[in-house]
Amino acid sequence: MSKAKFAMYWAAACGGCSIAVLEIKEKVLEFAEHFDIVFWPVATDFKYKDVEGYEDGFIDLCLFNGAVRNSENEYVAKLLRQKSKVMVAFGACATMGGIPGLANISTAQEIKDLVYTQEPSLDNPDKVYPQETLTVPEGELELPKLYDTVKTLAQTVDVDYFIPGCAPEAHQIWAVLEVVMAALEGKGELPPKGSILGVAPKTCCDECKRVKEEKKVSGFRRIWEFIPDPEQCLLEQGVVCVGPATRAGCGARCTSVGMTCRGCYGPPEGVIDQGAKMLSTLASIIDAPTPEQIAEIAATMPDPLGTFYRFSLPSSMLRRARI
Ligand code: SF4
Repeated sequence: MSKAKFAMYWAAACGGCSIAVLEIKEKVLEFAEHFDIVFWPVATDFKYKDVEGYEDGFIDLCLFNGAVRNSENEYVAKLLRQKSKVMVAFGACATMGGIPGLANISTAQEIKDLVYTQEPSLDNPDKVYPQETLTVPEGELELPKLYDTVKTLAQTVDVDYFIPGCAPEAHQIWAVLEVVMAALEGKGELPPKGSILGVAPKTCCDECKRVKEEKKVSGFRRIWEFIPDPEQCLLEQGVVCVGPATRAGCGARCTSVGMTCRGCYGPPEGVIDQGAKMLSTLASIIDAPTPEQIAEIAATMPDPLGTFYRFSLPSSMLRRARI
C-alpha cells in the first residue's frame, strides 16, 4: 500500500511548531511508516515548484504553521490549500495570529520606519529600506510584500482543522496524527470539519494544580518583581495569568513551573474573544470600593494588549488597530 503524503510549512512564526512535531520522538518512526514527506522546508529539500507540479489534492495532510503576514505566506497558503486534502492550521500563529499578530497595532510602514531608521542597534546611516524588487545583471530579485494586517490561516484559505498551542504539545500532536492516519487508511473517521483538535474541555485553570481560593486582587505585578508562593494560584497573587480565559489541553505546563499562562491555546469553548473574557475576569476580582480606586488598580496592569491578546489579536473582535 502506498503511503499517505505529508506536508508542513512555516509561515510567519518562530519555528517552534516544526520542532514540536519532532518532539513526538521515537514515534517519528511510526509516522514514517505511514507518510511520505512531500514538502517540509525545515526538514527536506523540496521547492515551491515541486508543490506547484503536484496534482490538486495530492497531499493528504498539510500542517501549516505561522500566520499570514506577507505575500509569500499568502501564496504558499493558497498553493498548499489547493494541493491538500486535509489542511490544518497548526499552532497559535496559524490558528489565531499568534505573536506576529501583535503587529496589527501598527502599519507595515510604521514597522519598517522603526526597524530601519530608529533601531539603535542597526548600522544604517543612509536609512536604506529593503526594496521589494531589484534589478541586477542576473535578473530581477524580489522580496515578499509585507502586509499591514497579519491574518490567521482561516482568514486566508479554507481550513479543515485547528490545533492550537505555542507550540502544540507533543502528546496532543501524536493523538491527532493517529486519528488522521487511521482515517486515511480507512480504519476510522476524520473528525467533523472545523474541529479544534489536541485540546481538552474547560480551561487551563481546570488543569492547573495550584491552590485556588478567593480571587481578590488589590494591584497587579510582574512575576519577576517578587517570589511567588509556589502552591497558590498566581492570579490570586496579583500576577495576570490568562488561565481562566484559555482552553485546556497543555496540562497547565507553564503554571506548574512558576510561569503564568499566556493564553496560547486560545479561548475556551463558547468564548469568542479571549481578551474580552480575561478583561471581564479581572474586572470581577479587583478588590476596591470606588471607581477611582478600581481605575488606580487597573493602571497597575502591565502591558494590557500584550497580556489580553498576546496570541489572539488577529482572530479577536478587535482584529487590528484602525489605519
Ligand atoms: Fe492556575 Fe493561572 Fe488559573 Fe490560577 S489563574 S488557577 S495560576 S491557570
